[in-house]
Amino acid sequence: MNRVLFIVFAATFSVSALYSQKTNLYDGKVFGIFEPLNVTENSRTITITGGTFRYVIDRSIGQLVSARALNDEFVASGTSFPNPYIGVMPEDDPGARREGGIDRPRFGYEKSVEMRPRLWSGELTDAFRFDAAKGTDIRTELVRADAELVEVRATGSYGSTPLSWQIDYLFDVDGFTKVTVSLTASRPVQLRWNCFNHAFLAKAPIQYLTKVSDPKSPPIDVRPEPTISIAATGRDQPVFESHWNAFFHLANRVTGIEFSKQDFAGRWSGYRDSSVILESGKQVDTGAVETVDGRELRGWDSRGRVNVFTQLYMRADALELEEFDIRNATYPLNPGDVRKRVFWVQTTPAKRPRNGLNSIRAVWPGPHQIVMARWRGTRKPWQPPADEQVKLWARMGVNLIIGGANYWSGDYARPLEAEKIRHFLRTAHEFGIKVIPYVTFTDFNFAAPAYQRHAADWMASAGIEYANETTLMCYNAEGWRNHLEKQWDQLLADFDFDGLYIDHWINIRFCNNTRHGCGGYLGSFATEGYHDFAKRARRVVARHTAGKGVMLLNANMLLFSGIVPWFDIRLNGENDDPIKMREETIVTTWNGWGQGVQSLAMWRPNQDTRTMINLLTTFMIPFRLNRAIAPKTVEEWRVSREPEVALARELWGYWRFFGLNGAEKYSSFGAADVLAMSQPGSIVNGFARDGRALIVMGVLGGSGKRGETLRIRAPEKLGLERGVRYRIIDLRHNRYLSDRAYTTPELARIPVTLDGDDPLILFIEPERKGPRLVYFSGADGVEPSQSGGRLMLKVSAVPGSPVELHIDAAGREFRAATPGFERAPVPGDFAVFTGSVPPGGIVTLLPSIQ
Ligand SMILES: [Zn+2]
Repeated sequence: MNRVLFIVFAATFSVSALYSQKTNLYDGKVFGIFEPLNVTENSRTITITGGTFRYVIDRSIGQLVSARALNDEFVASGTSFPNPYIGVMPEDDPGARREGGIDRPRFGYEKSVEMRPRLWSGELTDAFRFDAAKGTDIRTELVRADAELVEVRATGSYGSTPLSWQIDYLFDVDGFTKVTVSLTASRPVQLRWNCFNHAFLAKAPIQYLTKVSDPKSPPIDVRPEPTISIAATGRDQPVFESHWNAFFHLANRVTGIEFSKQDFAGRWSGYRDSSVILESGKQVDTGAVETVDGRELRGWDSRGRVNVFTQLYMRADALELEEFDIRNATYPLNPGDVRKRVFWVQTTPAKRPRNGLNSIRAVWPGPHQIVMARWRGTRKPWQPPADEQVKLWARMGVNLIIGGANYWSGDYARPLEAEKIRHFLRTAHEFGIKVIPYVTFTDFNFAAPAYQRHAADWMASAGIEYANETTLMCYNAEGWRNHLEKQWDQLLADFDFDGLYIDHWINIRFCNNTRHGCGGYLGSFATEGYHDFAKRARRVVARHTAGKGVMLLNANMLLFSGIVPWFDIRLNGENDDPIKMREETIVTTWNGWGQGVQSLAMWRPNQDTRTMINLLTTFMIPFRLNRAIAPKTVEEWRVSREPEVALARELWGYWRFFGLNGAEKYSSFGAADVLAMSQPGSIVNGFARDGRALIVMGVLGGSGKRGETLRIRAPEKLGLERGVRYRIIDLRHNRYLSDRAYTTPELARIPVTLDGDDPLILFIEPERKGPRLVYFSGADGVEPSQSGGRLMLKVSAVPGSPVELHIDAAGREFRAATPGFERAPVPGDFAVFTGSVPPGGIVTLLPSIQ
């Protein structure tokens, strides 16, 4: 097609002026978390940009020519999508008669049988092919542009046929883009093929595939599958093929692209069972295709295997995606009929994680579902955590409490003990601890007032019940979403919670309850309502917390950017074990970084606590403290050798010392140009703050000692400056890593020894003269000052918190002048003083009289 070169004029919409979204903007971000969408339009393109992604539509063809996440382009060069194509039956020859006869000319249908193009020739078995991007009368217009939603519509005709296409693009603020592809006819047509999404995806950024399982025999149960590496797939080999695929995600360690579908009704796939001898005498097997090298494949057509509706093939220069509505079946399309298919595409990550949640130090008093006396063995009426309990958590360094409200699931507006909850929230907030209550997207308690009236309309067809108390509702039931949004809104209006913890079931998305519109051939896979649910929850939380609220999702193995980025934190581990996962699954799913969220982990009693904590620390994924082992007193917290308590105390100490919340994170998963190790299986994470760096290294499943080299390839990214000399401190061993200071070029190769699966934690700071405080634990900050040889240390921690002060005495001796503080017999380069933070927070160390 000849393109006229237009004179390009650019117009950038000031979106807030076009469409007022003030109510959802907090600190300039939509819901406080997403950059507002920005639209640039000229005569050739429409460009939609979010915080981490960009889509470009070429107006001349009405198709997406770019889908970019961070620095990665996922559309293969020179291609576009969805670029639907159709195959139509050839028309009868002039003079042909359907009833045949001795005088008939060659009959059109026989001609169609002769249309047997070779496999992958690009032509279609039994039909003439037309592609939307090569069509005529193409018009592309911007329908709506605001901070939260952008809508574009493209229309065109399929060449000389009486068929027209329309593509509606709806870009949401998270990049989740609904694409609706419609096909209509101006006169009767026998349609044979309708491929509604035909994409060529760039090979370079795609290494991994994650998808949901294919449904097997009813009752249908669709679950997320482990991630696999697909980079070695051979040319013209399938990456995957499916009759029913609702979701797949293609990714590298940092970015990715996802495709989702919801409804599977009314699709058609032809099956042929005959051979035909033509007038020429040639025999044609109508259900087979020939390959380039002359083989005949039965059960195949020119686009691959019959009965496959979603297929992804590795080609020489790209991955070729084809999603079919009609696959080689004669379907009569008449004026007034519309064939409409919907899919969603989204690049990932949809946003960046919040640095303020690098160090989540969570406890979990619950309740989970409602707790009532004489119900499930509970004897005493439920109470929110008492002041003394909250104070203990504050002294331990807890910064997030999950729970604190007791109600029937689905009846969140009316928690029991309202006044006590308000008191508990005030206490927690005085200590700077955030509280998020437990709610779910799914569970509806039999006893909740609205259950009797609405549950039949809203139920997910799988009919799962939890603990004889709740039944699960479908995400696609709009009434249920309306109901819960009102409940959450009332809860957060009446109580000063800091966000929501949302539990849900990820395996009930398959539904065929027709009472709310699910159903049809092979049911429905809740996608649009699921996304909308997360958006509503965020809208409520943002409204009541000025955009600062914290949302935690029990995500388990869920990989779906339509949901996860609406949260701040994903919880992993309820039903899965990272020790048994391949690294691909951990980097794409468990490590929330690629989805723009922080991760929080839990594990089951059958998993080894020390191994789990070591693994999680190697990945720098925080863990929640298990309620069963939680210390009852501050003394128990101070001295416990129980691995979970001892490791939480130690590690939380480092994270608080460094100020991990607010530090910039770099990981060898995603930033190998900044930080790397020399051997496979070794992992490094680094944090930068105020010209200092914290480096955490480990080996997945490590055993024995491993000589390694830490490579800080871009010290300036970590805020480490040329010309400054740095000391490296091994925090876990109370010592300098070596006797000397390092220049930044010397940081490019630091020999270290990794021991078993124990992470090594190094602190890098500019060289300073002693005597001095090197590091501390048990506090959020310590401000040192010196006078007359005395060291005065102002500790920022709740009085009564156990604190450790690590002092480089520079060859001198110190003793504690503050009552209750004493020198602990810890080996290493630093004198360690321990004690409880006094009221006022001042700890004084005196030089010993020689
Ligand atoms: Zn449903």
